[in-house]
Amino acid sequence: MADPLLFTPGPLTTSAATKTAMLHDWGSRDPAFGAMTARVRARLIAVAGVGAGHVVVPIQGSGTFVVEAALGTFVPRDGTLLVLVNGEYCRRIVRICARIGRKTATLETAEDTPPAAAALDAALAADPAIGHVALVHCETTSGILNPLAEIAEVVHRRGRKLLVDAMSTFGAVPVAGPGIKWDVLVASSNKCLEGVPGIGFAIACEEALAAAAGNAHSLALDLHDQAAGFAANGQWRYTPPTHVLAALDAALGEHEAEGGVAGRGARYRRNCARLVAGLRGLGLTTYLPDAWQAPVIVTVLTPKDPAFRFAELYDRLAAEGLLIYPGKLTRIDSFRIGCIGRIGDAEIDRVLAATGAALAAMGVADRAPRAA
Ligand SMILES: *Cc1c(COP(=O)(O)O)cnc(C)c1O
Repeated sequence: MADPLLFTPGPLTTSAATKTAMLHDWGSRDPAFGAMTARVRARLIAVAGVGAGHVVVPIQGSGTFVVEAALGTFVPRDGTLLVLVNGEYCRRIVRICARIGRKTATLETAEDTPPAAAALDAALAADPAIGHVALVHCETTSGILNPLAEIAEVVHRRGRKLLVDAMSTFGAVPVAGPGIKWDVLVASSNKCLEGVPGIGFAIACEEALAAAAGNAHSLALDLHDQAAGFAANGQWRYTPPTHVLAALDAALGEHEAEGGVAGRGARYRRNCARLVAGLRGLGLTTYLPDAWQAPVIVTVLTPKDPAFRFAELYDRLAAEGLLIYPGKLTRIDSFRIGCIGRIGDAEIDRVLAATGAALAAMGVADRAPRAA
């Protein structure tokens, strides 16, 4: 049976070589596995584009596990975190903080609007208790690319610490460069790096990591302790996802071969532009202005024709081996089609053709968006 094509923002379609890399068993305390761990950590530093002075701390679990680990490890127990909210993943950060007992403040914008640097500046000036700021680079809820460089500039100038959730951009959109300073960034194996799910990682400045000793509310999710384990003997503290790491190692090799962040980003931007143009060609309306669209996932507004039912569209596409994603906006009906993973022009054309055929078969004539 052929695998489905995943137009979802992770798990996503992986290459044959990445899948094949999982066909081996590894001793978790064996030097060969230790060497692979060291290689993956070094490759992640290279992908980040940051130099010495940064430490990669991988941890078992999906992306949310490393988000929770980073919040608990880097925000002191009596600290306050300002969360820039414009989607579900930002709201999840607020929820995690409530659960683990970290105070939060929020600065909220609509789901189609990036946070404004000036508003952040004012919020930081007004509240000296805020020691840390959290930014989600691409809010995968909508696909919006939030302005990392502008936010980082304000946070740094105001002497606060920045935590970046770059889960759905890392590997395809640059996260470093002149003037972009963050203290901790988190991402995972199964998005733009095109690995399989099971590993999250934080990339932390050495000073931020050193200052984080004793903060964590949890043993398993203590990134300071996890980093100390790697520093001591190069090993994971607890059973590592051996096959997932092997797949990530292979996927990182392919990422390098594709030209790193520039090459991967170029393919995803082409996928995204082709997808958006094709959807508009079908009479559908995409949610975001082109300027704010990250090359990750495209949100489509539900057509107003009562003949449209997302579940039927999903089933019709799935019957052809094409898996898309439901919407997640709070106020507007929508669905989403991802453009990341081992896919290109041919796969984008397939999902567009199948979507056009399904809408025709369902009798969806009026494709203008439903009123909010
Ligand atoms: C995918 C994602 C996460 C983590 O989600 P998991 O389902 O736990 O992998 C966190 N933040 C963003 C922005 C994401 O896209």
